Amino acid sequence: MIKLSRITKHFGRQQVLRGIDLTARQGEVVAILGPSGSGKTTLLRCINYLERPSDGEVEIGGFKVDCKHPSKKEIQTLRRKSAMVFQHYNLFKHKTALENVMEGLVVVRKLPKDEARERSAKVLEKVGLGAKLDAYPSQLSGGQQQRVGIARALALEPEVILFDEPTSALDPELVGEVLEVIRRIAKEGITMIVVTHEMGFAREVANHVIFMDEGRIVEEGDPKEIFARPKEERTRQFLKRIT
Ligand code: ATP
Repeated sequence: MIKLSRITKHFGRQQVLRGIDLTARQGEVVAILGPSGSGKTTLLRCINYLERPSDGEVEIGGFKVDCKHPSKKEIQTLRRKSAMVFQHYNLFKHKTALENVMEGLVVVRKLPKDEARERSAKVLEKVGLGAKLDAYPSQLSGGQQQRVGIARALALEPEVILFDEPTSALDPELVGEVLEVIRRIAKEGITMIVVTHEMGFAREVANHVIFMDEGRIVEEGDPKEIFARPKEERTRQFLKRIT
């Protein structure tokens, strides 16, 4: 389970998050929607301390960190409980698909190389890249590169996978294959928090939808409810524009 309590974030004088509470139970897929600049990416990055929250608490898999006074050790422990899939894949260009997936297992998790190689090959197979283990990112399509990004996250076997707009850098014809992989791993009961502009995907795959605006959660609930009958005017306006 992952639980955020009263998360706030300032960049200088600008307050970007204004007290976010969010819970994702084991195996749940939570989609975060909202207009540009509403704080979605910042919230995601606060979960694994890529951004340091100004205040609040982050709890993942029973490990709780008080964001005001975290120790280095606590941050390190918390970081290991999540894995992030980035909008722009963030792969090492000079490493093959297999080496990209192995990197975190060997360097961070200290797995023996043979074991890391075996596990990495297995997850690459799972995302449909069994034939591309030795390909470099430049030899892969955007969709394939993002699937390597997903394999890298999966290989770490984290409590939660955080997706930051995983398809928004892709050409439209490549979006489907990446969403299909995410849809498939969601069925395996992996907890996921997904920032997305793909409303169809959110409606179909998420168990819970959060609509953010100006650093706050404006509305949240069951996707079917929110898409069919949004209660808040701001949600209505947003959905009208985007769907
Ligand atoms: P988008 O859908 O466009 O990605 P978002 O909802 O993810 O938007 P964020 O990227 O979280 O929004 O940004 C929220 C606000 O925080 C914006 O006003 C942005 O300019 C600001 N911001 C984000 N990161 C930083 C930073 N590192 N330093 C200063 N301001 C930042």
